Amino acid sequence: MRQVLVASRNAKKLNELRRILDEAGVAGIEIVGLNDVPPYDEAPETGATFEENALAKARDGFAATGMACVADDSGIAVDALNGMPGVLSARWSGTHGNDEANNTLLLAQLGDVPDERRGAQFVSACALVGPGLEVVVRGEWPGAINRKPVGDGGFGYDPLFVPEGGDVTSAQLTPAEKDAASHRGRALRQLLPSLAALADN
Ligand code: IMP
Repeated sequence: MRQVLVASRNAKKLNELRRILDEAGVAGIEIVGLNDVPPYDEAPETGATFEENALAKARDGFAATGMACVADDSGIAVDALNGMPGVLSARWSGTHGNDEANNTLLLAQLGDVPDERRGAQFVSACALVGPGLEVVVRGEWPGAINRKPVGDGGFGYDPLFVPEGGDVTSAQLTPAEKDAASHRGRALRQLLPSLAALADN
């Protein structure tokens, strides 16, 4: 069994990668999270791009533990805001991780923006760093920003995000429906060949 560290304490993220590996039939990998390894210094997320942040987190994890490490950085890019909040998504209202304040601010900023210009995409960059290995991939999930929050599933901007081709928010999808379509699922699936190669070595 090859252990792979996912640089996260979020059980949902660990399970998402486990499900994706299972669905693809990749055996021989045991996913462990940050709560399963001795604590180490984690660099702050100060990169200008999702890719930089994901790569920095994965490099830290590999350097500290010697285990191949997967890390992701994600957020929402709103067309009418020239791609912001982007890497600032988690702290858009000034306080890290205050989802309700972030959503209220985003809605206010888009108050006068007409329906046809409310496009946005969720973005996830995922990095895998291991011995002689550095890969960074990007998944995007296109949609639009609703005029009010709807739904109580998911987290973050999910109650405001209406994925392209549908008429419900991502907070109204089941976890399985969200996995199948989401930016993170799209990015993680691109790492499957590299993860499968690790499992075989
Ligand atoms: P992190 O990369 O997990 O730290 O996520 C950064 C921020 O982007 C989160 O705090 C959310 O505000 C937003 N975000 C990322 N992915 C999602 C998603 O799937 N749904 C809703 N918000 C998300």
